[in-house]
Amino acid sequence: MTYVVTRLCRDCLDTACVGVCPVSCIYRYVGDDTEKYPNQLYIHPGECVDCNACEPACPWEAIFPEDDVPAVFAEDTALNYAMEDDEDDFEVCDEEEHEQPTPEAIETNKRKWGV
Ligand code: SF4
Ligand code: SF4
Repeated sequence: MTYVVTRLCRDCLDTACVGVCPVSCIYRYVGDDTEKYPNQLYIHPGECVDCNACEPACPWEAIFPEDDVPAVFAEDTALNYAMEDDEDDFEVCDEEEHEQPTPEAIETNKRKWGV
């Protein structure tokens, strides 16, 4: 199993998850095909050790264990897996300074993506 970053991360990218990952397997896309890989972070399925550290650390509630990804985000699981074929266009994300979003902002983001 792996953990999956879903589209709830898109355009948030606060990197709160990055600092807690013990194996540095959370990546940023640096290639040109931003239609295929939107502006969010990605967990490398082959490197994730299922430690669960990132899920509670994500203020946007964007990370799920693979088996618990909501059906509405099913495509995001495939997208995290797809990065294994395009590894040269990804680099390990560094943690940046970030602020905790408000509960209202988190709910608004969920509604935007149909949750
Ligand atoms: S579950 Fe653990 S190893 Fe996997 S991405 Fe999250 S923090 Fe990293
Ligand atoms: S903490 Fe969540 S929203 Fe922030 S970058 Fe990581 S996955 Fe994306």
